[in-house]
Amino acid sequence: MRLGIISALHEEQAGLVEAMERPSRLIHGMREYFVGQLWEIDAVCVLSRIGKVAAAMSATTLVEKFGVTHILFTGVAGAGDKTVRVGDIVIAESLVQHDMDASPLFPRFEVPLIGRSHFQPDLQLSMRLSVAAHDFLEQDFMEAIQRQDQMAFQLEQPRVHRGLIASGDQFVNDRLRLEAMNGALPGLVAVEMEGAAVAQVCHELNVPFAVIRAISDNANENAAHDFMRFVKSVAAQYAFYITRRLCRELRDAPLQPRIDSAGT
Ligand code: SAH
Repeated sequence: MRLGIISALHEEQAGLVEAMERPSRLIHGMREYFVGQLWEIDAVCVLSRIGKVAAAMSATTLVEKFGVTHILFTGVAGAGDKTVRVGDIVIAESLVQHDMDASPLFPRFEVPLIGRSHFQPDLQLSMRLSVAAHDFLEQDFMEAIQRQDQMAFQLEQPRVHRGLIASGDQFVNDRLRLEAMNGALPGLVAVEMEGAAVAQVCHELNVPFAVIRAISDNANENAAHDFMRFVKSVAAQYAFYITRRLCRELRDAPLQPRIDSAGT
């Protein structure tokens, strides 16, 4: 396996690139790709930058140029529902582009000519990620996140959620907009700006992928303020510790080959 790891922001990725053994740095299409090993797993890390097009380009390049066999997206997101709190972890069960709307020609949210609105991540990889996230919260969290940051963000017993992630080219910082999205997209757990674009690319290229997000804000009027501080002090630790757990687990127990019904 060769794992492509995409992050949107520098802070989310910094720790992973530092941990890479014998990395080589390649520049392509205005991005840096770091190729090497992460805890004995072949890996390629890239900073996609923000938004769906940037993420889609990064995912495509990882597959077509760097030959990755699996993609993991790590990053932060706004909470999509009141039961999801800052500091919680969300793992995508399904992803949708909330700003896709070619109605009345196609149903709202449907990606035209693909015939679907929702994209499903790889179940095996997502389950491994879920185990890594739970273990992180139970075993590493107290050591990984400084006490003052735990208090500042009221990070008490963060939880792991699995559910629908909605992506669009918009930083959501408006309670009403979030409520409208919630109404239109049942089961929404997080809003962000890249995941569903990576999901579409992986669907079209038939590459298994998973998306994990730490909740940085409540997608309301305070979102921008909460977001910056969270990314700096907390998100990098989440990405580092969870990816380390995942890679070690994948090294010790490789994924089963997929039964490929789609063909390539
Ligand atoms: N105001 C910020 C914008 C960063 S974009 C700034 O000035 O830097 C936000 C990034 O975090 C994106 O990569 C997106 O995927 C994620 N994200 C976090 N909270 C979000 C929210 N409330 N809405 C949309 N994306 C969010």
